[in-house]
Parts: sequence; structure tokens; C-alpha cells
Amino acid sequence: MIWNPTKECMSADEKHHLQSQRLRKLVETVYHCTPFYRQKMQELGLLPDDIKSIDDIVKLPFTTKQDLRDNYPYGLFAVPMSQIIRLHASSGTTGRPTVVGYTRRDLSIWSEMIARCLSAYGADQNDIFSVAYGYGLFTGGLGLHYGVEHLGGTVIPMSSGNTCKQIQLMHDFGATAFASTPSYALYIAEAMEKAGIPREKFKLRIGVFGAEPWTENMRREIENKLGISAYNIYGLSEIMGPGVSHECEQKDGSHIVDDHFYPEIISPETLQSLPYGEQGELVFTTLTKEGLPLLRYRTKDLCSLNAEKCACGRTSVRMSRIVGRSDDMLIIRGVNVFPSQIESVILEMKELEPHYLLVIDRVNNLDMLEVQVEVRDGFYSDEITKMVELKKKIAHRLHSVLSISADIKLVEPYTMQRSEGKAQRVVDKRNLK
Ligand code: ADP
Ligand code: ZN
Repeated sequence: MIWNPTKECMSADEKHHLQSQRLRKLVETVYHCTPFYRQKMQELGLLPDDIKSIDDIVKLPFTTKQDLRDNYPYGLFAVPMSQIIRLHASSGTTGRPTVVGYTRRDLSIWSEMIARCLSAYGADQNDIFSVAYGYGLFTGGLGLHYGVEHLGGTVIPMSSGNTCKQIQLMHDFGATAFASTPSYALYIAEAMEKAGIPREKFKLRIGVFGAEPWTENMRREIENKLGISAYNIYGLSEIMGPGVSHECEQKDGSHIVDDHFYPEIISPETLQSLPYGEQGELVFTTLTKEGLPLLRYRTKDLCSLNAEKCACGRTSVRMSRIVGRSDDMLIIRGVNVFPSQIESVILEMKELEPHYLLVIDRVNNLDMLEVQVEVRDGFYSDEITKMVELKKKIAHRLHSVLSISADIKLVEPYTMQRSEGKAQRVVDKRNLK
């Protein structure tokens, strides 16, 4: 079902008109209400009147996470605090947290975005959602929570952690859908298996997975283990939170809510716009946000865009999966390595579990990559030759994909640390920054 066909299925002309109108208003607002943007525009010799249509967006300045940090906590807010009714903050794994503020209208748009997203997965008022994203400063929990309510479904505000109880309540309350990180979904699947509860005892049919990168192989794994249909949801707190884009039942890219968020792809090196179809850094301009409007925010997420109409009938621009981040791409012995490439190899091998950790170190000036990965129950053996053979097989496959060699460390079944939120998959000991 399409929640809001007027907005999700607009013609190219209608959309161009709407986006242009919204961009003009946005630029006018930030110029007058955010000293940071006024100064940036003045430095570029730009006045609000220079922005006539959405095509002029390329004239506008970029915004980065650093800008938000420099103006911590409220410096980029465009309305007085009396109009801000909610704050969230990103986890701040790389420094000061980034604080984001929402007006009442922002929150109502966000809820509608999630309702669109859940409808696109085929959910409706009859669905019961267990939300296993963290509740609190993280946007995942409350974001999904309000979206489910807006849809008219039933929400179970589980939050993350306490896996046994999660499973018990999903079972007892007849949950038909659940939302979590994909890594936590795998953990839940495994815990269900271990608890010996057959999946037929659950009514689950839809999974809402995002907040961290995942792959097609991981989707297959989750779908097979849980007997559900697993959908991608993407978002970032700076722009709104989860729901900035979402898949539909076609599972052919994620629809960007582009009547509210205008997407561009740029080269992270030259900052020039790239044509749709090319892979580069995703940039968003918030066309309607009041609390924290952002011009050309650099997400650092790498993907490509596709403006073709989808078979589902929606005309919104679709983004590919995130293949990595322009800032967390690993460079190992001069080779660009995305953790997702390694993950794909691991997930293709029946002997391995999708639980792994990449440890990068520099020994005698040479980069070393160690891949720690858990062996699946039934494939682990005390026979050294068998394990050596398996290591060789993994190393060989990784080499053919990455063109670099890696040390493989096999870990016994069920011993790698499971994550309840975003999984920490990379430990870089090189201290190169
Ligand atoms: P932080 O992780 O700093 O707390 P957010 O929670 O807002 O900040 O995380 C946003 C980031 O999470 C995105 O920029 C992206 O890198 C990643 N992310 C979110 N959803 C997805 C997804 N579905 N696929 C891949 N990456 C995702
Ligand atoms: Zn679609």
C-alpha cells in the first residue's frame, strides 16, 4: 500500500516545482535565522534571491558533522528553544555528540515518513511491532515508535537488550513485525534457535532493519532463519533519524523521502556533483525541517542514486545500499577495503557465522589484517588439519575479492561478543589519524 500517493508518486514536473518552492523558502529562512549559514552564504557572495529553483542547489555551501560539533549544542537551530519540543543526540563514537532538535511539525513529518515506510513493507493497522532499537537519545527507538502509532499499528516499546524477554514477549504478544539493527536480528534468530522455540510459534512476518550497513547475503540469512521478509530502513539523526529512505516490497533500492530531503551524490575528493548511477558520497538538504534545517549535509555514506520509477509505483529517487563510508573506508597496504566486502565473503560460506571482527595493525611498517570469525556449530572441529583447511579456504576467497592477504582467526561457536545495537566490527590499531 502507498501511504501518501500524492507525495510518493509525483510526476517529475510536480516534484521539481515542489522542491524548488521548498528550497527557496528554506534558503530564505536559514539566511535570516541561522548566523552560521548567513555567514557561509556571504562568503560565497550568495543572496537568498540567487536560489530560484532546485537546480541552483549546487551553489549552496556544504555542511559537515564538524560544523555541528563546532556549534554545539544549539548553534545551528533555526528556531527559538521555545519551539523545540524534543532533542536527540547521535552516539558520538567519534567525538562530541551531535545534538538535534525537533519542532512539533518536524516530529509530525517524521512520524508520517515512518508510516510511509512501514506501508511500503506491506504493514498496516493490524500489525504489532516490537521496537528493539534503543530508546533514548538515539533516534531509532522513539523514531520507529511514533511512526508505528501514526500508521495505526500497535507498538511494543521493547528497546534493545534483554534478548530472552524480547523473544518471549514477541511470542506472547503475537508480534508480526520487529525493528532492530540487522546484527541484533541475527542474534535474536540464534537465541530463538538455542531456546528451541520453533519459528512457527511466532507470527512474525516483517523485519525493519537499519542503523548500520548490511548486505544482500545478510538479508537472506535473516529471512531464512526467522522466516520473515527483511526490509532496509536508512536514516541519520542530523537529517531526521530513521526513515529518510526505505525499501518497498520490490526490494530494489531504498526510496528517499525526496519531497522532504533532497539527495545529491558528490565526489568526496572534488566535492563536485556526480550524475545519478555513479557511486559517491550522499548529500542531503532538508527541504522542510524547522528545528535544525541543513543545507547540503555531507553524510559520508557512499552509495548511488536511481531516479527511475519503481515497479511499486513510487517515483521517489532510490538509493543503493550503503557500501561504506568515505571516512571509514579502510586502506590496507594501499588497497581500499570496505568491511562490507569481507562480510559478503563470510556470509557466503556455510561453515561460518555472520559474527566477525576485523583487526588492523601495523607490524614492521606493514599493515596486517586479521579477520576473526566464528565457525558455525557443527563445522567446528578439534582436528587441526580441518581447521587449517578452512582457514586457507577463507583466506583464498578474501584474497580474490580484496587482492590482499589476511590472517584468519577461527573462533569457536557462540563465543564472539554479540551486539544489541550497532555492531563494532573494526578495530584499527594503527593510529594513523
Ligand atoms: P551515530 O551512529 O553517529 O549515532 P546515527 O545514529 O544518526 O548516528 O547514524 C547514522 C548513520 O548510520 C548513517 O549515516 C549510516 O552510516 C548508518 N546507517 C543508518 N541506517 C543504515 C542502513 N540502513 N544501511 C547502512 N547504513 C546505515
Ligand atoms: Zn518501490
